[in-house]
Amino acid sequence: MKYVVVSGGVLSGLGKGVTASSIGVLMKSAGLRVTSLKIDPYLNSDAGTMSPFEHGEVFVLDDGGEVDLDLGNYERFLDINLGRDNNVTTGKIYSKVIEAERRGDYLGKTVQVIPHITGAVQDWLERVAHQPADGSDLAPDACVIELGGTVGDIESAPYIEALRQFQFRVGRENVTFVHVSLVPVMGPVGEQKTKPTQHTVKELRGLGITPDILVCRSSAPLSDDTREKLAAFCHVAPKAVMSTHDVPNIYHVPLMLQEQGLCDILKLDCHATDLLEEWRTMAYNLDTLSEEVHIAMVGKYTNLSDAYLSVIKSLQHAAMAVNRKLVIDWIEASHLESDWPESQEREDAWKLLKQASGVLVPGGFGDRGVEGKILAAEYARTSSTPYLGICLGLQVAAIEFCRNVLGFEDSNSTEFDENCKNPAVIFMPEISKTHLGGTMRLGSRPTLWQVDDCKIRRLYGEGDSVDERHRHRYEINPDMIEALESSGLKFVGKDETGQRCEIFELDGHPYYVGVQYHPEFKSRPNRPSPPFLGLLKASTGQL
Ligand code: GLN
Repeated sequence: MKYVVVSGGVLSGLGKGVTASSIGVLMKSAGLRVTSLKIDPYLNSDAGTMSPFEHGEVFVLDDGGEVDLDLGNYERFLDINLGRDNNVTTGKIYSKVIEAERRGDYLGKTVQVIPHITGAVQDWLERVAHQPADGSDLAPDACVIELGGTVGDIESAPYIEALRQFQFRVGRENVTFVHVSLVPVMGPVGEQKTKPTQHTVKELRGLGITPDILVCRSSAPLSDDTREKLAAFCHVAPKAVMSTHDVPNIYHVPLMLQEQGLCDILKLDCHATDLLEEWRTMAYNLDTLSEEVHIAMVGKYTNLSDAYLSVIKSLQHAAMAVNRKLVIDWIEASHLESDWPESQEREDAWKLLKQASGVLVPGGFGDRGVEGKILAAEYARTSSTPYLGICLGLQVAAIEFCRNVLGFEDSNSTEFDENCKNPAVIFMPEISKTHLGGTMRLGSRPTLWQVDDCKIRRLYGEGDSVDERHRHRYEINPDMIEALESSGLKFVGKDETGQRCEIFELDGHPYYVGVQYHPEFKSRPNRPSPPFLGLLKASTGQL
């Protein structure tokens, strides 16, 4: 097992996750089976209870793990399926150690950060690195370990110490340390400044880890002078100073690292497979797309694109497949509401919605903006504009249908109006009302087709069922299904019991589809998710 450990310095948001995933792509292109682990030093057990405001989207895995969005990058870049244990958090590690202490596993000993926490971290890394992730039952050959946060943070200190020890546990020759840093550009001649990187490497070396490779984020390629200076001051070989400068799209990153000789440093034959050719085609095709398609995204975190990262990626994958340049028109759902106080904002929001070729309402929790989402669903239904509703987006479309087609004016979800008389959406019986962490209907569940033929079934292709990932507490009210279906809103996909609604498609509409699950978690660059592909095809007249 070869390990690549990726740490970061200077500041967050340098694209450490993309760098780490790109190194994984290079290893994969050499024919290795690659997996990954992300360490998040916070105390939460998982990302499930964190607000998108704090930490971006919560990514959901097959096994129901609610994890950091970087795991999504790994799944998409490496085309693997990870599990909850691939995301290490301080909450998980400490729970494990404290549980062992209570059991008496350390009887007589003082339980301490070193060696007990650092030991538990290393055991975890080694165990999970060997778990198959590519759909086969074979253990991976290589593992990328990304350490979240920035070197020097108090909470990441035990992990740095664990990783320092780890090189002795698994052999120094089996670990490559990569440090991602920033080279700012200053002044009128655009001088590349090396001092921040010098400082962060000094700090890392002070903690006992000497990086083998430096990856420097910068606006332009590093000059030879900058490389040499960094090499001299940071104790790194000059050829091991890489630059990840601005590129038009992220598919260029593995190519850029390969061109700078990363494969040689890792002693990889990066042309052992056709993978890099595939990436090259993707990267350059995406650059040349010029004809635009506008998709309106009606959400409530529209100023924070990280909150919808996988949805954006899925739209991009689907747009690439229909040869269009994707333009997402962000619409703050509450701006669509008739009582929104700023009339200019309301006007602008409606204008954007009406100009778009397709409408997407993503998942969400809480009642802010819900009435606006209901209006967006109504607009798409009545104007024959292609619509994809994901999770809450399916639920609001059902509420709208109950109100405006079936005539139940007070219809709602009991999430937003507990006492509503004709709810379209209700709380699922098996869900806990007292505990919020990890208690939703989570992870991969099968959806069985209820009809032989429909648009969304054709998009999915072969098979009697589809497996997609879930994350919800509410569902379509079973008592409402008959009425909805008899008016044309057909539930074409249901769970194994035949009770729970998973997919609807509206009769006589170009594309009006809702899914209770989150298809965005399984989309891949070269294998767009079918509901997204349907939306993009319908929005560009290609369905
Ligand atoms: N809040 C809704 C539910 O819990 C929708 C969840 C979602 O969109 N992920 O069912």
